[in-house]
Amino acid sequence: MSSYKCHLCGSPVEAVVDLHVQPLANSLLDSPDAIDQNWYNAVWAWCRQCELLQLTDVPDASIVFAGDYPYLSGQSEYMNQHFRKTAKMLYDKYDLSMGRAIEIGPNDGGILQYLSCSVLGFEPAEACWPILDEKGVPHRQMKFDLRSARETAAVWFKADVVYTANTLRSLKDLRDFFMGVLEVLNDDGVFVVEDPYIIDVVNRNEFDQFYSECVYGFTITAMQNIARMFGMEVIDVDELTDNHGGSLRWHMARVGKRPISPNVEALKVANSEFALKDKLNRFQQMIDDISVLFVDELAHLRDTGKSVVGYGATSKSVTLLNYANVDVELLPVVYDTTPSKVGKFLPGVHIPIRDAKEFADVPRDAICILFPYNHQREIFEREKGRRWLVYFPKLDYKES
Ligand SMILES: [Zn+2]
Repeated sequence: MSSYKCHLCGSPVEAVVDLHVQPLANSLLDSPDAIDQNWYNAVWAWCRQCELLQLTDVPDASIVFAGDYPYLSGQSEYMNQHFRKTAKMLYDKYDLSMGRAIEIGPNDGGILQYLSCSVLGFEPAEACWPILDEKGVPHRQMKFDLRSARETAAVWFKADVVYTANTLRSLKDLRDFFMGVLEVLNDDGVFVVEDPYIIDVVNRNEFDQFYSECVYGFTITAMQNIARMFGMEVIDVDELTDNHGGSLRWHMARVGKRPISPNVEALKVANSEFALKDKLNRFQQMIDDISVLFVDELAHLRDTGKSVVGYGATSKSVTLLNYANVDVELLPVVYDTTPSKVGKFLPGVHIPIRDAKEFADVPRDAICILFPYNHQREIFEREKGRRWLVYFPKLDYKES
């Protein structure tokens, strides 16, 4: 039995996934000779008591979300479409015509840019502030916590909907966060959370969802336990299949304030037989197998004189590259469309990131490694006539 204790309930937890020491996924380097400063112990453990999967050694959030945090979701047309649809759905479902909405971490626009009601964002990433200004999205330039929430409720407003996407799993202090949400949420307001669904992540073998921003993995039982701790309950769930792999949208409200959708029970029933912990143990073996196959294939391509390039310098690809010890000899370059990443180097492995506009100059017979595999369709449509090596759900070659 490990000596780790559950971050939420304090029960002993059991290590189930160990990806060794990893650099923080977003700490891109300015030069190939720079020394990586920020490492963490990539071990995830399972709490049998509250069913919460958790990273045991949580990096300091101020490092994870440093000032040059490069992920600007709105730069992906795909994510913009998702936010537009989500904004419309929430507007209609909770009748926000006269309402107010808060988004925690709208990044460069989130759903707020598409909502025609009073809105407010909490955004700590400096790179996003001028973009939010330009889009006319009112925001507080700070992270969301109990203190900033109290002040906001007093000076600004309380909201009918508080929304956050891909945030909850990255937080160390869930307690402070939920207490903050209760401060800014109207009495019958709804807290809406989107996050990868850990059961889908494991069922789909999406091992690279395990990186420094994945502090928690939520099952329905875990989320219900968490909600209960704060006087709330899960009132609805939506399954999202089109972004970040398999994600869930959780709707929570104070106990008894809103009817509970049959979707909640249906999800619970669908997963009642699910032995997540056992699957997580097998997951480790699968990660080891894919890492070995991936490196062997890259070595084979190098030895046979093939040109190899990467496509998409995602945070998630940092996990695999470091775990499998892929270096510039095996993968000399990765192309990416995000301006804030171009010219930098991937942490740990020090592979340079070049502008995707130069991808057109890559010889047509080069093998391209697809890192954001969940955007495969979009990327294949954009980059036709290429030969791709994909590593998910298994190592395979594809043509675009
Ligand atoms: Zn626990």
